[in-house]
Amino acid sequence: MTPPPAPPSPPAPPLPPPGVHRLARSLESGALPAYLYDLDALREHARAVRAALPDGVELYYAAKANPEPEILTALLDHVDGYEVSSGGELAHVAHAVPGRPLAFSGPGKTPDEIASALRLGVARFHVESAHELAVLAALTARTGTRAQVLLRFNLAVEDGLLHGSALAMGGRPAPFGIDPAEADAVLRTLTDGSRPRLEFLGVHAHLASGLTAERQLTVAASVLRWSAALAARHGVELREVNIGGGMAVDYARPDETFDWRAYGRGLARLREDCPGRPLLRIEPGRALTVYSGWYATEVLDVKHSHGEDFAVVRGGTHHLRTPATKGHDQPCAVLPVADWPHPWPRPKTADGPVTLVGQLCTPKDVLARSVPVPGGLRAGDRVLFAMAGAYAWNISHHDFLMHPRPGFHFLSDRTTRPGGAP
Ligand SMILES: *Cc1c(COP(=O)(O)O)cnc(C)c1O
Repeated sequence: MTPPPAPPSPPAPPLPPPGVHRLARSLESGALPAYLYDLDALREHARAVRAALPDGVELYYAAKANPEPEILTALLDHVDGYEVSSGGELAHVAHAVPGRPLAFSGPGKTPDEIASALRLGVARFHVESAHELAVLAALTARTGTRAQVLLRFNLAVEDGLLHGSALAMGGRPAPFGIDPAEADAVLRTLTDGSRPRLEFLGVHAHLASGLTAERQLTVAASVLRWSAALAARHGVELREVNIGGGMAVDYARPDETFDWRAYGRGLARLREDCPGRPLLRIEPGRALTVYSGWYATEVLDVKHSHGEDFAVVRGGTHHLRTPATKGHDQPCAVLPVADWPHPWPRPKTADGPVTLVGQLCTPKDVLARSVPVPGGLRAGDRVLFAMAGAYAWNISHHDFLMHPRPGFHFLSDRTTRPGGAP
């Protein structure tokens, strides 16, 4: 008989880096909540990711994970380009990191967006449908421009392979990419000479989010096999295959990061085995930036309610929506504050676990459930939520309830050390 599953353990409190810790303590109450981004840690992480990738594999950053200009700039030396998924991102990224290669993705690109991408000289279009390809062809003809194309396909993958992924975009009925049944017809319109301004570079497939390195490699192997067969059938060269992002991030186990080294080794093997050895490209978002962002706040009030303890913190899921959308507990660290300036007793939880909620008038405004705080959590204590560097502020519903916006601080020894290089 299998033993009953163990109850889920609360996220291990991660150790905030010293600069983040200092700032989270020293900011005035009125300056909280605040997003603190550790740009040095981000650069170091991206450098290590890049170093784990073999020759022939390019790294793009998916800007939608966190498009703050400081984040995009910090990644400059460590990525080969940026993946953008809307006209807004396109304009923003082109302005923040001018001159860098951009790949334009996303379903439902409008003719205006495509036209501005052509004007901005976007390097690659990830085309989502036969119609979109026709629009692109017409606009290149009208403007006398050219475009390089990767066709995004929603490939079927081995049954069960995407099972357990946090978010599946493909491998099943979905509005993303071109159905494999249409692949031959669509590719023919690129190879029959009728659209001389479009150049077929290869295939794009972003099928799921939250896959371990091993699963990513299995999916990539099947994408490469399929793509090579497609190109062979049409007698065209397969120059590039973009195998997407979606590298796993585990909010319940912050220490268990994606195995970039195993992934890099596996990609080298896959490329070696693929006819014509196409250039491979990956475009992670979350796994690049999530660890370098922190959301710092303080406990405003503490309640004991029907047998459970709650702490209400300044801010909430209108700033950090991630735990609400993903249904997890955001890992956090408590920074006890000794001072209590008031003459009345300080609200305090008992020794048991406490649920951390925000200021919104909805039961959904929960940042972390059942957090163990030995010794109790008090009004005025500070809390630092970790793993808030991706899909956090920029996916949140800021205007709901009209609370003030958080502060933003970008920490770097490069810029804060007196006399240091900018
Ligand atoms: C969102 C997205 C990514 C990045 O996904 P992550 O899970 O953040 O790594 C990459 N490519 C495409 C096409 C996407 O839509």
